Amino acid sequence: MMTPMLRTPEPRIVQGDDRRLARERMVRQLSEGEHAVRDRRVLEAMRKVPRHLFVTGQHMTKQAYGDFALPIGHRQTISQPWVVARMSELLDAGPDHKVLEIGTGSGYQTAILAHLARFVFSMERIGALSREAIGRIRTLGFENVKIQAFDGTVGWTGVAPFDRILVTAATPSPVPKPLLEQLAEGGRMVVPEGDRERQRLIRYTKTAHGLEREAFEAVVFVPLIGRLGWQEE
Ligand code: SAH
Repeated sequence: MMTPMLRTPEPRIVQGDDRRLARERMVRQLSEGEHAVRDRRVLEAMRKVPRHLFVTGQHMTKQAYGDFALPIGHRQTISQPWVVARMSELLDAGPDHKVLEIGTGSGYQTAILAHLARFVFSMERIGALSREAIGRIRTLGFENVKIQAFDGTVGWTGVAPFDRILVTAATPSPVPKPLLEQLAEGGRMVVPEGDRERQRLIRYTKTAHGLEREAFEAVVFVPLIGRLGWQEE
């Protein structure tokens, strides 16, 4: 009888380990330095979601865990990990919360929110991106996400109000009125508000006495295009 040959590890497993390590490194870097993200639940979610499954083509293996935005087709981008983590931290979505996200894109931020909240409703104006995101979310087995291909500037009337609203496209100031209206009392909205080129992260909190508005870091997002957003160029 032949002695079995020593087998080298399956390349797939090695790659999986590499990606897990790359993800660990990404999370460690997010939690260090001047703009460190400290929310433990957010960091844990970033550790769990395989970002490489949300980027397309040649970028997949090499760049998925770098701290930068990447193209996802249709002139859109998947946001930089730090931006995703920081917005999630500012949003402070809890396990009882119903969340509305505007700008599904790749679905990566959607997956992070799905780890943090009870249910996530997400809207994307580009049908093809929306379909791809639905596929990824399904593959990963999330059962608390619903994605709709529609103009998010009008919100999602049928299921409003929301405990949290996250807008991940550059929004004119002031932010579209339906979104503020669809925020529950005590609710929070995080949105990159400004002009088409540059924005600032703004957090609105709806209280019994009105709206509070706080400003945070400067950011650059693709524009929110729609009936109550920017015009398509
Ligand atoms: N959170 C995404 C970021 C995607 S970029 C990610 O992590 O991948 C912003 C997305 O907002 C783009 O996909 C763009 O098509 C979408 N978008 C722009 N205007 C929109 C609108 N009015 N309603 C819904 N989605 C919109």
